[in-house]
Amino acid sequence: MKRKMIGLYVNRVHDQNAIRFISEIRNAAKKQDHRLLVFTADSDEFSSNMGCERQLFSLSEELDLSAMVIFTETIKDTKTIQCLVDIGHRKNIPVFSVDRCWDGCYNVTLTYENGFEDIVRHVVCDHGARKVNMIAGLRNNSFSDDRIEAYKKVLKENDIPFEPARLGWGDFWDRPTRKVVNDFLESREGLPDAIVCANDAMAMAACSVLREKGISVPEDVIVTGFDGTLTGEHFSPALTTAEPDYHKAAEDIMDKLTEAEQTDTPKPEDISICYATLKSQSCGCVAYRTDDKSQIITELYEDVSDTTWHTLEMKRLLEAAAGMTSLNQVIPGLTECVRPWSNHFRFICVKKELMDSYDVPEKFDRMTTLIRVFNEDFGATGEEFDSSEFVPDMDGAYEMGEGEDVLAVHLLNTGTSAFGYTIEGITDMGSRHLRRYNEFAMFLSLIISTILRNQELNVLNDNLLSAYDEISAQYIRDAMTGIYNRRGFYRKLKEMLEASRGRGYLNLFSIDMDGLKTINDTYGHGEGDFAINTLANAIADITGRKGICARFGGDEFIGVIVTDEVGDITVEQVREQLKEHIEATPHVSKKPYQITASVGMSGCDISENIDAETLIKIADKKMYEAKGSRRR
Ligand code: GH3
Ligand code: MG
Repeated sequence: MKRKMIGLYVNRVHDQNAIRFISEIRNAAKKQDHRLLVFTADSDEFSSNMGCERQLFSLSEELDLSAMVIFTETIKDTKTIQCLVDIGHRKNIPVFSVDRCWDGCYNVTLTYENGFEDIVRHVVCDHGARKVNMIAGLRNNSFSDDRIEAYKKVLKENDIPFEPARLGWGDFWDRPTRKVVNDFLESREGLPDAIVCANDAMAMAACSVLREKGISVPEDVIVTGFDGTLTGEHFSPALTTAEPDYHKAAEDIMDKLTEAEQTDTPKPEDISICYATLKSQSCGCVAYRTDDKSQIITELYEDVSDTTWHTLEMKRLLEAAAGMTSLNQVIPGLTECVRPWSNHFRFICVKKELMDSYDVPEKFDRMTTLIRVFNEDFGATGEEFDSSEFVPDMDGAYEMGEGEDVLAVHLLNTGTSAFGYTIEGITDMGSRHLRRYNEFAMFLSLIISTILRNQELNVLNDNLLSAYDEISAQYIRDAMTGIYNRRGFYRKLKEMLEASRGRGYLNLFSIDMDGLKTINDTYGHGEGDFAINTLANAIADITGRKGICARFGGDEFIGVIVTDEVGDITVEQVREQLKEHIEATPHVSKKPYQITASVGMSGCDISENIDAETLIKIADKKMYEAKGSRRR
């Protein structure tokens, strides 16, 4: 039979209280053969990625869920909450809102009322304390004032008069509390029988001050806290405090779920999480034991070691990603990286388009699997599927892990870009496990972002390179005629000489158009340009691909032709060829002017030290002589 799923939505899941409550919901759900699908992201009130979080959470629309539990207080974006509630209503399943009242939901909220009274009553009635001091929180704070009222109520019940000197305000934290305790000890009233504190942090501070003064808790004074924090539990002495009864609340949630399933209509009502007194060492109900601590210390060391290894693995991958330009490249490294932690189900997918483009699509649509592993067995990668499937062969995935009745889903994103998600089967609800899972998603998000960024930079670089090629080609060309300019001439001459390896004869021609000014003045610059282009094309035709043809300025050109021997080509031949080429140019015959040029020539055997400047000077001189004689 297919197991039923409860969708649970929570951000920053490392919060101790959230983890405790989720563990309880998990246990209660397990009894009724339901599994948890925990959706998480890293958003908080300062994040700009609310849209990404919503994209991920909205995948619930297609999932077959029997209920939704939203930790509304941890989700800062109200639109996301409403979107989830709407999904639940469309599915006609119960939607539970934890810690914050939301329209249309079963609201699950903490009720403080009896919790504090019960602790004070325990101290007075069970331990017989008569001189009871209280450390409240902030002045004019409702949480604090409610607890003061509870304290006064219990004193009255037991005919103990309220003495204002026995009340101090510790502002809910360490430093002001230390002062309050010192004031108590120096007051006329002296050492009380008990100090009841409005939270655990203040109770721990009070115990510390007393210890410094050589006063023992609970032998000399009883101290109690409130909230039931993990640090209070591990403190020495372990605090007598009140903790939210998550166990009962989780059972209530499952009861309401069953009720709604039976009637097929959710009827939202409120569920209270009451506080239960946790009787421990700081009141004397539980004896102090040193061996308690060694286990905690061992666990902490194991956590630190696991953190170190995991961080190193992920850092290695992040470093490698710095040189990657495609998500395909990350798969082998990623496989190695998750291997030490791959004894349970883990699935990683990204938006399909990201496999070959850095443009992040706006929605989850087609997805590609990067990693799918279970029991150290890595399945196929690169599988494409629709995000509405969530995981390809979802039922199979869900049945795989025995005891993995929690699947945690984490968003992969940076800023406003959502890349994909990871899914991990969870057997151990311990905070280290959940934190590692969180670290993994954060690192992986950075890795993906780095690779996409590299890809983008690569494309940008290619564009720059081709722009550079184009510009450098332009740099050695004359814009109007397209033949080489002066710079291009010298560069090409050098290349040509290197290629000829000292063999052959270099013939250099200086060419200047005759009477361009007259053409310009009589027929306009357009015609002058036409004449320049015609002459340039003619010279290019003559010098050919093996020669060089360049425009040095206005109507001055230089041409180079390499022959085997001196005398293989003469200036007369060049003049004649120019004439032929110009006359063969379309439209030239219809022009009312002639396009002619004067040509001078110089030359030398090709060797390593050719003096181009001198060759040009000689050719120029010859060209001017030719021009002069033509004029005459
Ligand atoms: P000569 O027969 O002695 O060579 O005289 P010319 O009229 O050809 O004049 P010269 O070579 O002394 O000077 C070149 C003239 O060509 C000067 C300038 O007005 C003109 N000229 C230079 N560059 C361009 C151009 O790009 N387009 C046009 N239409 N005219 C140009
Ligand atoms: Mg001229």
